[in-house]
Amino acid sequence: MQTDIFSPSYAIARNRFRETALNLGASVESFAIDQKGPNNEELTIDFALIGANQPKWIVIVSSGLHGVEGFFGSAVQLAWMQEVAANGGLRVNTDGAVLLIHAINPYGFAWLRRTNEDNIDLNRNFLLPNESYKGAPSEYSLINHFLNPKSPPPLFDFFILTAIRNILRYGFATLKQAIAGGQYEFPEGLFFGGRSPAKSTQIIQACLPQWVSSANQILHLDFHTGLGKWGNYELFPRVLSDPSRYIWVFKQFGLDNTGGEAPYQSQGLMGSWLAKNLAQKNYIYFNAEFGTYAGLKVLASLRAENRAHFYGKSPNNHSQAQLYEAFCPQSHQWRQSVLIKGFDLINKALKVCSQMHENL
Ligand SMILES: [Zn+2]
Repeated sequence: MQTDIFSPSYAIARNRFRETALNLGASVESFAIDQKGPNNEELTIDFALIGANQPKWIVIVSSGLHGVEGFFGSAVQLAWMQEVAANGGLRVNTDGAVLLIHAINPYGFAWLRRTNEDNIDLNRNFLLPNESYKGAPSEYSLINHFLNPKSPPPLFDFFILTAIRNILRYGFATLKQAIAGGQYEFPEGLFFGGRSPAKSTQIIQACLPQWVSSANQILHLDFHTGLGKWGNYELFPRVLSDPSRYIWVFKQFGLDNTGGEAPYQSQGLMGSWLAKNLAQKNYIYFNAEFGTYAGLKVLASLRAENRAHFYGKSPNNHSQAQLYEAFCPQSHQWRQSVLIKGFDLINKALKVCSQMHENL
């Protein structure tokens, strides 16, 4: 598989996505988030529906909820569409379709950030009606000055040493939960969930249910990177009810467990919101996490980029390049491996979803 399928920029990725989808005869629509990219280009979330017009079952493949992580998801979407084109079209029965959603956080994708235009982690922004945009875990508040220093990046950063000291003091599991679980108190901090639904969140909430309205069976793969073992993936389900459905799906995927234990508990997850709002359908969501570097290294690059973004002297090219590497390694071997696995996952999802539809 060609690794040059990884686009060098958001603008190129978006053009390739739209062009390839249109050539496949897909229904394509763009939704602007009213922000501009580095070359003054428009930033949009792009939907492409391939297959039946009024599908009964749909596989959703989404990319770029976390901006810079979209380089990978976008590459898999493109590789998959090119393969479909090479095979003369999508070979599913007339009831099925694939909905590709490109760059849910186009700002972060274009500007090489994980967060959106307001430093919001969109996967902490999809709150349910009984939740509020308030609060932070107490441990987060305790280490806020260390996680989010209000000073320019120094020449030498003793992040790892201090991180280890904090891990010894608070415990690894507690810290992981406190940091990655999300917070609503520190708008310049990591994993900030926002103060209200972001523009991207509003677009997904308004549009996604419409695009899948005719279907009663939906299998959603939401592509992410930066968590897990190098070049491998894990599927994290959002189980609200009926875990037996997920166990069955895992078996069909050829995975011998019931999925990874969720790495942390958080509110505001897109999958939870969709599961709740598509509850009348048989909707199954997986956060497909593809591993890159070790957790501390990924966190170090997030922290350095965030610090440079708010307090560095522009331009912060070095920390941006580090962040890009943390979420989309240049390694040819990594790219080859995740492309093949991501591609394979979409095809498996198609089989599983059509089978579930038949069993309904
Ligand atoms: Zn992610």
